[in-house]
Amino acid sequence: MIDCIFCKIAAKEIPAKIVAETELSLAFWDIAPKQPIHILVIPKQHHENVAELAAEATDYLVDLVQLGSRIASDVSTGSFRLTFNTGVEAGQTVFHAHGHITSTTPKEQVA
Ligand code: AMP
Ligand code: ZN
Repeated sequence: MIDCIFCKIAAKEIPAKIVAETELSLAFWDIAPKQPIHILVIPKQHHENVAELAAEATDYLVDLVQLGSRIASDVSTGSFRLTFNTGVEAGQTVFHAHGHITSTTPKEQVA
């Protein structure tokens, strides 16, 4: 989709700090982290939000959640959030579906 920043990141046309990827999904660090761990997971195909992703492309949705869960267990203690802001009033600012993986407790901080 023209002028979608996450489509451009998915196409590697603009840089991002990539964490991991699959054929269908890409994970990268949020540019303005709101937690010690704040990673975004996106489908490599454009869908406006998670509801449309669920309606239009369940393979991408499942892959996104699986990749996000795998990353979360690698970088956090296993206690994390996976959230999808959906719509302007919910705080969505980028209209390409994305899950936020957030955690207060990076794995290396645990004794
Ligand atoms: P939301 O408000 O749920 O739409 O989330 C959009 C998120 O994308 C915010 O947390 C932003 O900090 C993040 N963001 C915007 N542009 C970039 C970018 N170029 N690279 C990484 N994260 C970004
Ligand atoms: Zn897009």
